[in-house]
Amino acid sequence: MPPPIQRNSLCYLYHYQFVRSKIKSPIEELIMNLMSTAVLDDFANLSPLLRIDLHSHTTCSDGGLSPEELIDRASNFQIDILAITDHDTVAGLDVAANYILEKNIPIKLIKGIEISTAWQGFEIHIVGLNIDIKNTQLLQLIDQQQEARESRAIAIGEKLERCGFPDVYHKAKERAGAGTITRAHFAKILYQQGDVPSLQKAFDKYIGKGQRAYVKPNWCSIKQAVEVIHAAGGSAVMAHPIRYDLSSKWLRRLIVQFKEDCGDALEVVLPQMAPQQRDLMLNYCLEYGLHASMGSDFHYPSKWSDLGRNLKMPERASPVWHLWAEPIEPIKLC
Ligand code: AMP
Ligand code: MN
Ligand code: MN
Ligand code: MN
Repeated sequence: MPPPIQRNSLCYLYHYQFVRSKIKSPIEELIMNLMSTAVLDDFANLSPLLRIDLHSHTTCSDGGLSPEELIDRASNFQIDILAITDHDTVAGLDVAANYILEKNIPIKLIKGIEISTAWQGFEIHIVGLNIDIKNTQLLQLIDQQQEARESRAIAIGEKLERCGFPDVYHKAKERAGAGTITRAHFAKILYQQGDVPSLQKAFDKYIGKGQRAYVKPNWCSIKQAVEVIHAAGGSAVMAHPIRYDLSSKWLRRLIVQFKEDCGDALEVVLPQMAPQQRDLMLNYCLEYGLHASMGSDFHYPSKWSDLGRNLKMPERASPVWHLWAEPIEPIKLC
């Protein structure tokens, strides 16, 4: 096998000459062979060149695109490595993986999930990346979380009924279809009915923490989520630490807890983030020996953010994919 530098140059050559331009060549086979022996770690050095997005949603939870549509969009946006991380479900992953295979799309799919957890009265999201989606412990936790979601949704519906909005539970349930029901579905119904002027207002006025139709959820603990992600062979990432509206004292407490519970990485790079916020997260990673992840948290196309947009791993960070020693399959040619 060639030394890493040479292999990386080959990856680069492979990627830009063949995947991007879709030109086939006689040496393609040779490069494919070398790629098949590469580990994802090889891509770490190439991350400025590769488009990586490790946080996205589909209609299997509160995203607007089906798994197939999401993969098509990722392909149009020339994403090389994409994680699908739906809320408390892995239902979209086989669909996406089969679609990639069937259409021979040059995307490496990372199997993921976003687990809601409860910590000190806050709802903290833990993303699991590179997980075995058939793992029994994971499937058990998913069942438990789905039950908690169902009973919370019924209770939210009852509270909204008392606020003067009849039957929102059934409407939200219908909107969620076979996917995970979330508060985003309730927000969409209230918005569609003209009861609130924006989705955000639905949270601010009714279903957000402390509001009239807020229901305290019965999520698992951070520790449980991390343990189950590890049992499924994955890496546990604290999703969007800057979005929990915590003071710096509480944010540090949360990170200390996450580290104690054996969490692996913080989501250091999000699309709409001030450089100071990113530096602060990076410094937490360095201080607590945590890896770094990056993702758009894509739900549906909007002018504010999109797949892979504004995602660049800081040089001093240790990317979460350094933890993935498993050989990756070669990126398929079209
Ligand atoms: P749930 O997981 O059921 O609590 O639903 C939360 C989801 O609603 C999040 O994953 C977001 O996609 C969406 N959301 C949109 N705005 C807000 C907000 N202000 N607070 C919490 N969640 C929001
Ligand atoms: Mn969501
Ligand atoms: Mn989240
Ligand atoms: Mn998310």
